[in-house]
Amino acid sequence: MHALFLPRLVNGPFEDPVLFIPFQFQRRALIFDLGDVSRLLPRDLLKISHGFVTHTHMDHFIGFDPLLRRLLGREKDLFLYGPAGFLANVEGKLAGYSWDLVDRLSCGLRLHLTEVHPDRLLCCSYSCGARFAADGDTVELPFTGRLHIEPAFEVSAVVLEHSIPCLGLALAERFHVNILKTGLEALALRPGPWLTRFKNALYAGADPSAEFEIEAGGGASDGRFVLGELQQKIARITAGQKIAYITDVGDTPSNRTAIVNFARHSDFLFIEAAFLHTEREHAASKHHLTARQAGEIAALAGARQFTILHFSPRYEGREPELVHEAQEAYQETLARMGRQHRA
Ligand SMILES: [Zn+2]
Ligand SMILES: [Zn+2]
Repeated sequence: MHALFLPRLVNGPFEDPVLFIPFQFQRRALIFDLGDVSRLLPRDLLKISHGFVTHTHMDHFIGFDPLLRRLLGREKDLFLYGPAGFLANVEGKLAGYSWDLVDRLSCGLRLHLTEVHPDRLLCCSYSCGARFAADGDTVELPFTGRLHIEPAFEVSAVVLEHSIPCLGLALAERFHVNILKTGLEALALRPGPWLTRFKNALYAGADPSAEFEIEAGGGASDGRFVLGELQQKIARITAGQKIAYITDVGDTPSNRTAIVNFARHSDFLFIEAAFLHTEREHAASKHHLTARQAGEIAALAGARQFTILHFSPRYEGREPELVHEAQEAYQETLARMGRQHRA
């Protein structure tokens, strides 16, 4: 009935990128890249539990400060992930302010940072109450692709080549629970918070023979159900949604292979297209993609839909040319793949 995640690019394609990913029906969101966050409402910034930064070039990381400003004084855990050098980058930002008066605030904000390397993660926490000094030693963990796992979804990363290491990011729902309106009607049930509880029980792999209770207001005269029976009547399980986000990468052979594998079968692929293909040499020297390359990669990955972003300012007023070039490359590549498949 509804997607769990509602990803949206916050800014136009010439502005500093931010992909905001709120959860349907929950006061919670993820964020990919911390570019210009000024268009996000304060209540949107407060929803963010986990932020993933592709790399710390200024256009992808300048939003850290306004986010921190908004969260200061709140009781909150914020988890942030970024590539090699990330801990030092954030520590540098934190060191840029004086924290002598934070004791007067309620100092419940804690930052949990993870620095992503191809084979390992470096994790460290910082709390506002300790004036953002590191809580302890940096902990090293092995990295096999997944950054964050919850029962309903996971976030993965791959280390790609820009002028510096840069993370490709993907969010994948494990499976999708579709609620059947007809099923609800047949049982005279009304949607409510119990539906989130119901879905969470399925994601957590709860025993189907367990009892599931629907609180008053859900509409049921007797609110007790057997979970598995209720599932059969009101839900249909389908493949989960996959959202991939790729920006600031050159079209090198190793990047192309890694991106195509990483973004495979995404429902939504957000991918940079900084330049037109006539300027491919310039794009390569800046470690960016052309619109044609973005369209080819989207097709090779089998992305169902893709959106290009992060255009060079030189194309101001010429967006349709970039979109057209990417779409044409996508269609041509799909057609070529179809011919190869039939041959
Ligand atoms: Zn950039
Ligand atoms: Zn960059």
